[in-house]
Amino acid sequence: MTRKRRGKILATLGPASSTAETIADLYDAGADVFRLNFSHGSHEDHAARVADIRTLEKQVGHPIGILMDLQGPKLRVGVFASEDGVILTGGATFRLDMDETPGDENRVGLPHKEIFQALKPGASLLVNDGHLRFEVLNCGEDWAETKVIVPGVLTNRKGVNVPDVTLPLPAMTEKDKIDLEFGLSLGVDWVALSFVQSPQDVIELKERVNGRATVIAKLEKPAALNHLDEIVAEADGVMIARGDLGVEVPLEQVPVLQKRIIRACRKAGKPSIVATQMLETMIKSPVPTRAEASDVATAVYDGADAVMLSAETAAGDFPVRAVATMDRIISEVEGDEHYLSLMAAGQDIPGDSAPEAITAAARQIASALKAKAIVTYTTSGSTTLRAARERPPARILCLTPSETVARRFTLVWGVHSVVNTTHTPDQSIGAMAVETAASEKLAEEGDVLVVTAGVPFGTVGSTNMIRVIRIGEDT
Ligand code: PEP
Repeated sequence: MTRKRRGKILATLGPASSTAETIADLYDAGADVFRLNFSHGSHEDHAARVADIRTLEKQVGHPIGILMDLQGPKLRVGVFASEDGVILTGGATFRLDMDETPGDENRVGLPHKEIFQALKPGASLLVNDGHLRFEVLNCGEDWAETKVIVPGVLTNRKGVNVPDVTLPLPAMTEKDKIDLEFGLSLGVDWVALSFVQSPQDVIELKERVNGRATVIAKLEKPAALNHLDEIVAEADGVMIARGDLGVEVPLEQVPVLQKRIIRACRKAGKPSIVATQMLETMIKSPVPTRAEASDVATAVYDGADAVMLSAETAAGDFPVRAVATMDRIISEVEGDEHYLSLMAAGQDIPGDSAPEAITAAARQIASALKAKAIVTYTTSGSTTLRAARERPPARILCLTPSETVARRFTLVWGVHSVVNTTHTPDQSIGAMAVETAASEKLAEEGDVLVVTAGVPFGTVGSTNMIRVIRIGEDT
């Protein structure tokens, strides 16, 4: 299946989408990458879904991406003596400590020593997705006395965010390390790391992954935004995790940060994903709000590579409709006569290396000759990634001998990848480009293709060849 749109769709799998039939329906509706959320589900569940996706991939004959999302160090309060929790009133004092005794109106456990070690008087604690806010009055090694600033009901094991401080937490918990090895053994293509605070967090994950998958940094902590360019440089891609981000920073900053992060990714040539609450009302309703449709459209106009569905597909009543709705919104935006010029306007000046200059030239040639596709031959993926960074008007056809590389491009803007293991040294590059572009229905007789590659094949990062082919005349 050759999709007509350039932007990609990630669909999170969960109880509402756990059967092979639903996964196939989600793919048909437009899902390019499936996300396995390791905050939920057993290893058995995830393994069964990976098996179903790989079976589907064989049936459709096209690569399908799988992203595993590690839970990360999610902080939570302990439990209360009453099942209903407690009602906390504004101005009341409330204590958090390391005591495991069930809590009441005066205190509750917070079993994370690192938080107390990093807290300072005046710091804010946001609880239950930011619905409650406490201010630290006084604190010690294993306790904090707080004042309730935003009151509300607090129940068992609700999440805690501490936006004002960089927590001395390891990037990965013991659970994450076990999950990671398990996910890698299943052959996931992307690993997403939650609550990244510094470039070092990404470096540590990459060392562990050791080339077995590519790595997405989830941006949801203010500390990460202070090192945005370095994190983007270390990661293979970035997710704008607006759920926790919108708790950690004032809500009104989220749209501005979304644009800033996408710009940083486009400059670096790394894919970006906009995530969370994109079509939130479709969890219960067959249609989204107009504002949600506009939110998806904004992410596409911003130049994101992909947009993501979370609970809409994992636990909602209309998972397939949600994907189909997203597909229609993206296609409509891309059909806007101003869309490609807006993409071009957001384009950064190419770097001064030969591969970057060649890729920029390929874009210009494709534009001038109204080429149907830029065909990139790639072993490592770097030639194709550079082409995507240029946001060309032509589609990008990625020909690669590597199934792994082909799958990774399922979340990259504009790229349609095909695994090509049949290339022989005496087969011309042009003939192979024409044959594949035609069989994938990207081009036909009379159409122009612009071909880029690094020759000899197999040398990483060496885009050094460009060729123009008019199908039928030059072949
Ligand atoms: C988010 O916080 O927006 C997000 C995508 O992460 P998670 O679903 O793991 O909370």
